[in-house]
Amino acid sequence: MRDDTQRWIAADKAHCWHPFTPQAHWTNRAHDPLMLARGEGVWLWDSEGRRYLDGNSSIWTNIHGHCHPVLNAAITRQLGEVAHISYLGFGHPLAGELAARLCAFFPPRTLERVFFSDDGSTAIECAMKMAIQYRQQTGEPQRTGFIAFEQAYHGDTMGAASLGGVSRFHDRFRSGGNPVTFVSDLQALENLPESVIALSAAVVIEPLIQGVNEMRPWPKGMLSGLRKWCDAHGIQLILDEVMTGFGRTGKMFACQHEGVIPDFLCVAKGLTGGYLPMAATLVTGQVYDAFLGTDDRAFYYGHSYTANPLGCAVALASLDVFEQERTLANLQPKMVKMSSLLADLKAASPYVHEVRQCGFVAGIELRQPDGRPFPAQQRFGSEICMAAREYELLTRPIRDTLVLMPPLCTTETELGHAVAAIGRALGVG
Ligand SMILES: *Cc1c(COP(=O)(O)O)cnc(C)c1O
Repeated sequence: MRDDTQRWIAADKAHCWHPFTPQAHWTNRAHDPLMLARGEGVWLWDSEGRRYLDGNSSIWTNIHGHCHPVLNAAITRQLGEVAHISYLGFGHPLAGELAARLCAFFPPRTLERVFFSDDGSTAIECAMKMAIQYRQQTGEPQRTGFIAFEQAYHGDTMGAASLGGVSRFHDRFRSGGNPVTFVSDLQALENLPESVIALSAAVVIEPLIQGVNEMRPWPKGMLSGLRKWCDAHGIQLILDEVMTGFGRTGKMFACQHEGVIPDFLCVAKGLTGGYLPMAATLVTGQVYDAFLGTDDRAFYYGHSYTANPLGCAVALASLDVFEQERTLANLQPKMVKMSSLLADLKAASPYVHEVRQCGFVAGIELRQPDGRPFPAQQRFGSEICMAAREYELLTRPIRDTLVLMPPLCTTETELGHAVAAIGRALGVG
């Protein structure tokens, strides 16, 4: 190992604290974390010069590949103007253009206002606070509750975490905040007592597929059914498209598959093509109008880096690349290819219990050949991901479900490389 690499690892182990990471494992002498130093297209290189395909799009963010010339140029150009200004009290040339282009994905007079923030969690926080304040300013202040789905994931700040249904992450933070009622599916929602509905402001859902819940798609028609239920009960709909947004499901936004328009749409991860932290909460004119009038009706919320110009520049460039490279049209055959490669993998490996796919996102659930789950302490999914590194693939599992969610620019050949790496890690081929 190079001296540099050793030095970087030592500094990391001495002073850094990684997300979602048992640090005792991480800092163990036997663990040599990869220091990722460079990227190009779907490939990443570690500090030792080894390359890997970015099989989970750098935790679900990257869209057009790393070091994309158009995205890089957009940031460089903006950097020559100004890196950051205050969006509190000022505007800048790019934020309005980005907001208009985001709204243009939806019919006129639907989602027509954009509130910028920093990441998926803050996009959800905004939607929650707006939903509560909206009720206060429309004569229903008693509606302070939220309805969320079991096993859902909406982020880690306190408000967003209160909507989370993954008990191993969220249970210890349940005490504060607004009341949240969890339901398992549409049927359970329809069975909720009127007393709960009457005190609820909004329902929140990851449309089409729950990501952190081991990549679990909802049944077809569920989302449009949910919209109907919301309309019938005067409940607002918050869509968390932090993962599904920007093409992952085969359309720009997951809600477009079922012709659903939410009251709030939260986007983040792919907004900047996976380059910079930035998020947006899109709202309808109806929501926005309730915040007009006297000053005390304003939405008193914001972050220092709201609408960061570099983020706006690269988000706009990412939308340009969607058009220039016909990203969504080119994705359609690759989604089919992903299905057939994963069907072959399932046929070849006794450990592949189930493949769950939605667009260009797949979860590959591993179990013992007799169909029983592996004991959790075996960390089989992690082991397989570690083994796949030897075959030039990086991804991480959710328990024993491997995530395959490469950038949308991945070619069929590269997709073949990724699935072959998983196969070889599982002892196939
Ligand atoms: C990642 C994610 C979030 C949280 O986004 P951060 O940028 O990590 O705060 C929220 N919802 C969903 C569905 C996500 O996948």
